[in-house]
This record gives sequence, structure tokens and C-alpha cells, in this order.
Amino acid sequence: MSVAKVIVDVPAKQINQTFDYSIPSKLEHVITPGMRVTVPFGPRKVMGFVLQIVPESSFAKLKSITDVLDLTPVLTDELLKLGQWLAEETISLYITAYQVMLPQALKSQYKKELVRLTDGELTPDLESLFAGRDVVTYEEFTQSMIPYHQLLKAIHRGDIQVDYLVKSRITKKTETMIKPAIANHLLEEAYLDMPKQAKKQRELLTYFIQNPEAIKKKQLMSKVNTSASTVKTLLQKGLLTSNKLEVYRNPYNDNAIQRTASLPLTIQQEQAIIPIKQAIAEKIHDVFLLHGVTGSGKTEIYLQAIEDVIKEGKEAIVLVPEISLTPQMVHRFKGRFGSDVAVMHSALSSGEKYDEWRKIYRKEVKVVVGARSAIFAPFENLGIIIIDEEHETSYKQEDQPRYHARDVAIERGKNHQCPVILGSATPTLESYARANKDVYKLATLSKRTNEKDMPEVEIVDMRNELHQGNRTMFSRKLKEKIEACLQKKEQVVLMLNRRGYSTFVMCRDCGHVKECPHCDIALTYHKNSNRLKCHYCSYEEPMPTVCPECSSDLIRYFGTGTQRVEEALTQLIPEASIIRMDVDTTRRKGAHEKLLNKFGRGEADILLGTQMIAKGLDFENVTLVGVLTADSMLHLPDFRSSEKTFQLLTQVSGRAGRHELPGEVIVQTYTPDHYSIELASTYNFTDFYLKEMAMRKTFHYPPYVFLALITVSHPNQVKVVQTTQKIVQSLLASVKEDTIILGPTPSPMARIKDRYRYQCMVKYKNEPNLRNIIRNIVNQFDDDIQKDDLLIAVDMQPYQMM
Ligand code: ADP
Ligand code: ZN
Ligand code: ZN
Repeated sequence: MSVAKVIVDVPAKQINQTFDYSIPSKLEHVITPGMRVTVPFGPRKVMGFVLQIVPESSFAKLKSITDVLDLTPVLTDELLKLGQWLAEETISLYITAYQVMLPQALKSQYKKELVRLTDGELTPDLESLFAGRDVVTYEEFTQSMIPYHQLLKAIHRGDIQVDYLVKSRITKKTETMIKPAIANHLLEEAYLDMPKQAKKQRELLTYFIQNPEAIKKKQLMSKVNTSASTVKTLLQKGLLTSNKLEVYRNPYNDNAIQRTASLPLTIQQEQAIIPIKQAIAEKIHDVFLLHGVTGSGKTEIYLQAIEDVIKEGKEAIVLVPEISLTPQMVHRFKGRFGSDVAVMHSALSSGEKYDEWRKIYRKEVKVVVGARSAIFAPFENLGIIIIDEEHETSYKQEDQPRYHARDVAIERGKNHQCPVILGSATPTLESYARANKDVYKLATLSKRTNEKDMPEVEIVDMRNELHQGNRTMFSRKLKEKIEACLQKKEQVVLMLNRRGYSTFVMCRDCGHVKECPHCDIALTYHKNSNRLKCHYCSYEEPMPTVCPECSSDLIRYFGTGTQRVEEALTQLIPEASIIRMDVDTTRRKGAHEKLLNKFGRGEADILLGTQMIAKGLDFENVTLVGVLTADSMLHLPDFRSSEKTFQLLTQVSGRAGRHELPGEVIVQTYTPDHYSIELASTYNFTDFYLKEMAMRKTFHYPPYVFLALITVSHPNQVKVVQTTQKIVQSLLASVKEDTIILGPTPSPMARIKDRYRYQCMVKYKNEPNLRNIIRNIVNQFDDDIQKDDLLIAVDMQPYQMM
């Protein structure tokens, strides 16, 4: 009898280890590492991941595994190993690390069914189980006493497939297929017999005489321009027949995507790709930093490198920031690799995500293009991992396990001995510094492929506007340029750098600002509902008519939300048609895409939006980009605020003049001489890098040190301060002399949902044991965490300082 080492789904520190379970004889040789099982745990049955099978246990009495949830492992050996690394690296529980690698659909429920794929003979047992049906529930199998091995063999041969039933609204999608019910010559006879007036029916028959294959009903109706009732009539007459086919929910219409071929590379591209191709051919793990301005042909390099990888019989992961995962982007990959591409996008439904994951799992695709979590794609033969826009903060997961996809990519690159490519026009200081030290290999693309210069950037000092009596949020220059643009029938992109700003409500008499009663933050005014809402908790209240402090009726909303900018813009240039894109207008699934398509078709003159419009857009007719408030991010309590400002300005500038028409950029700011704004306006990454590195060195920030952020929260402020104080003291007692511990300090968001928040920051150069130290310190508070609602969050590589 052998023993399985299982990580159980009980998220608690004391349980963060494997437990031994005996394998019952019916499951002997069925269970393999990477499968999920159900096991008894205390009075309950819980899910668990099998990590290892061993001949015997050091414990005398073992409970036994109840059942398997999977018949083939959902985690590969490599992912099992990666999970361990991930948990240790991010100081998380093992169970959390494994769960994050699987699609949601697999986490929520465990019902499954067996689907017959073969028309050939199964074993007599299995034949009697299916009894002529194509699908049976998994329960029927477990009740049948058929040995697991028989089923497993059939699964491995591809005769039977296991499907996880995604519950409720996430049901599998089927498509009605129509085909002729009778032989072609009989169809022709039926056609001749049909009265001439039955024009529609005759057309439909003609179609099938010429195309006897099965076709999707929807497709048929648009192709032949017929109606559902005509189809129904022929079905009833027994001339056609229909059946339902399970289809993957394919959010992208592959057939409509034009195939593309490799472009002959420019000299710069050629130089950049040679070492990458070499690493692929020689199976060497190396990290390449591809620093290329927007439009310099980075994506073409990715595509051609992947082509090599596929030729080697291997697979590729491409990470793209959520917001850039536009249909345009997907089309570029599907255009080159067709149905070999799976897409993992968080806007997909849970069922769609599961479908895409299954394609990878079943080795039906070679390439996955996706947002952060696609880094866990269960490929077994990775040949390359690409992270586009590597500077994007969305690659960092902000809850447990708090991982950065770049670190996971590099770890997987080592596991598979394959190259990792980081691409960006504005790399992070961390990555660029590593490239400078030859830890990463640097390749630079300094020219756009179309040899066009980056658009001219003009900085407008908004303080002067104010002095000249212009109190609007549009400088005279910007207004002029917008008008000129509209006259030429060209389009404008306006970005409101909104982070840090919002439409808050203030009393003009006494200065009182309406705040959330549960969080330390001003409430945001929502015009549509005329209500005030908190962005951190769900609190809301009606817009007050008088000030609660002084009863003045001069209480108004302030700030520059996109809605207000839209109103002001309409007043300023009444003839302009505007599309507004922000969290409010893009909340519904697909809304983002719809708005962009509308703008792309030229149905509006101006696209006005928040940060989300800075990325990935590529419209021929956009010749003017305006940034309304370039500095609103500069003053946030975040040491990366200059870097983020530089990145954003560079990126949004790249939206103008990408094609034949030359582009122009106007940047409005109150701090025109800040280096991040000045240097972004001349696209001077190198000087920005040097200047910012000097700042980081002076103030001890990455890449000169590593950071760890510990945030403590609890409803009682005294308790929070005391706990943080104790953590600081314990840390000071354990770390090296040159390690800096800051705190306890209130978090920039000092209260959220009635919980006070304090933090301490560790700045260190070399603390190989720090993770253990922190783990042990946090464990000392376990009682309070379990029983007293104390929360201690550890972030080993913080990006969000709030
Ligand atoms: P990036 O990813 O760096 O922004 P892209 O790969 O999107 O750049 O390239 C910008 C444009 O240049 C695209 O329209 C692309 O098709 C085109 N392009 C890329 N490489 C070449 C090439 N070698 N020859 C001609 N056009 C190219
Ligand atoms: Zn007041
Ligand atoms: Zn709140």
C-alpha cells in the first residue's frame, strides 16, 4: 500500500504542510502527483493536491484518500515544484500558491462527466456504462465498480474525455449544426420536385447540393440569407438534419482573421533577434531586455522567435497587460499562428477561461497570449516566455500569493532552460539596471520601423494660463490644436491622468470635505446617480444639499473627473463629438472594445479617457494627443511616481502619428520643469534612467535595495500600533546592520473599511534569511490572527505603497 503526501485546502498556518494519506487499493496506481483528491480532514472532507507518492509513512495510523477529483493531473511536475517556490518566495500558504495556478472553474466545484470520443469499441464494462449514450456522469462511473484502470487507459488512449462541469451560468456552449439528411442525388430530386414558388427552400437546397458538409446554423443563415423557419421546414420534411455540437466558447472569430507571414526584419531587429534565436536553438535560459520605442517592431520579434520555438516542437507564453489585450493584439498572434493560440483574458467569462485553459492542458495549442495569470499555463515544453510592456504594474498580483509575473517567468525559464524576453519602450529601473550589469542581455531598437520620428511634444505651463486669466482645464494652445484637428477631420486622444484626482465634494464656505465614515478617503461624486460613493468599501450616500458642518448651501463637487472634463469640453468646442472612456463607461463586458471600435470607425472626433487609453491603441487618423494633467501622479506617496509619470507620458505620446499623418502631443502641467515630464517630452530614456537612479541611490530605494512591506490592520488603532511596534522590534533584533527598518508609520491609506492600517518597511541589500525571519515573526501573532481579526499582510516586492 502506498502513501500520498497531500496539501489540503485548509488555509491556515498550522496546516501549511503535507499530510500523509493512504491510497486505497481501488486507487492504487491511479493517483499520481498533481491530481486533486478528496480526503477526510477532521470532521470534514476537503480537497487536496497530491504532491508526492511514497512507499510508506512515518505515521502509524493513516486516514485514507476518499476519491480522486481528477483522472489526469491538473498540475504538471514542474508546476508542483513552482508552487513550492512561489509559496516560499511570497511567504504564502502552499494551498494558495497551487490554487492560483488553476482556472476559477476548477476551483469552485468538482462535478464532472465522462464524454465518449471514440466510435470504436470500448471495454465491455465501459460499453455497458455508456449504454449507447455519449455522456455519463462521473458518479455513474464510481457507482459502477468498474476498475479505475480501465477508465484511465481509455482516457490516455483518447477514447474518453473528462469534462469538469462548470456550474450554473457557466454551462458548456453548444452550436446547432445543419447538414443534409439524405444523399446528394436525392437532394437534387427533392429540388426538382419543389414548386417554383418555394424560392427560399430551393435556395437552401441548392446550397446543400453544392456544399454537403455540416454547417453551423447561424453561419448558414447569414450565408444563404435565409430564415430560421425555412430551415425548420426542410428539417421537418426530412431533407435536412440537425444536431448539437459542443464548441469551445470562442470569443474571437478565428475565421475572420487574416493570416500573415513573417516580415523581413530591419537591421536593428535582426541584431536583436539573433541571440534570442540562438538561446532557443541551444536551449539556454537567458533573460533578454528588449528596449524599443513604440512602433519599433518588438512584436514582430516576438512572433518570429515563437515561430522558431514552434518549429522545435515547443510552446510559448506571451504576457500582455490586461488593458493592451485588445482584439488588435490578439489578431496579430492569431494572424500568425491561427488556432494554435489560446487567449487568457480576465474579461472572459469563467467558462471561456476554462475552455482556453483546457486547450493548453490538452496540448491543442502552442501559444498562449494572456494577462498575468497566463504565466501558469500548464505547458510542459516551454521554449520561450515573453513579457510585453514589462514595466506594467498589473504584472504584480496584489493579494496572496503576492507574486510578480516577471519573477515567475524567470523561474519557469530556468526550469525549462528557455529564454525569457522582457520588452518595453520604458523598462523598469530594476530591469534596465540588471541589463546594464549584464545580468540580462540588452537589445535596443531605437528606430520606428516606418522610419517616422516620434511625435513632437510640447509642454504647456498651466500656471501661466491661470495668470493670463484662463480658468478652464484646457490651455489656449490645446483648444487651438483640437479645433485645427477637427477642421482637418483628424482625430484627437485626450488623457486625463486621473489617479490621485477624483471628484470630491467640498464646502466653499468652510472647506469641509465629505469623507467615507469607514475609510480615510474623500467620497467620490457620481453624477448619474447624484450620489457620493467610496471607492474602497461599498459605502454610498445621496449628494448633500447643505454642508453638514456649517449648513451653507455652497457645497459643490470639485476635481476633474472625466465626466466634468467632458462637460467642459462640450462647452468649449460644442461641435466636437466625444467618446468618454473610464471605469464607469467600460464596466460592462465588451464595452471597452465597443468604444474603441466606434472611435476607430471615425464615429467621434475625440477619445477622452483615463490611463486606460494610453496603451496599445493604434488609430491611423489620430494626429493629436493631449495630456490634461501630467503631474497628478507625481505627488503620490510612492517612490515610483516619477518613473510612472515618465512611462505614462512616453506611452500616451506614442498614440499619435503612428501612420502616414504626422502627430503632435500637448502636455499640460503645473510642474513643467520636473525631470520626468521634461525628459519624457524628448523621449530621453537614458537621461531619465540616470537621473532617477541617482535619486534611488540617495533615498535608498530599488534597485539599490530590496523592499519588504508589512502592513498590519485591525479595528482598534492601539492594537495596530502595538503590533507593528513589536514586529519592528523583532525585525531589528534579527536583521543585518545595514538593513533599514522604517516604521511603524500609518499607511498612506490609514483606514479602510473601519480597519486602521500601519506599516513597516524593510530596505535590505542582502538578507538571505529574511523570508524565514518574517514568517517566524508573523507566526508569533497567530493567536490574534485566528481569534482577534488581526491581519498582517507581507509583500516581498511591493508595488503598491498604499
Ligand atoms: P512595437 O511592438 O515595438 O510597438 P510593432 O511590432 O507593433 O512594434 O511594429 C510596429 C509596426 O511596424 C507594425 O505595423 C508592424 O507590422 C510593422 N513592422 C514591424 N516589423 C517590421 C518590418 N521588419 N518591416 C516592416 N514593417 C514592420
Ligand atoms: Zn461648510
Ligand atoms: Zn469606505
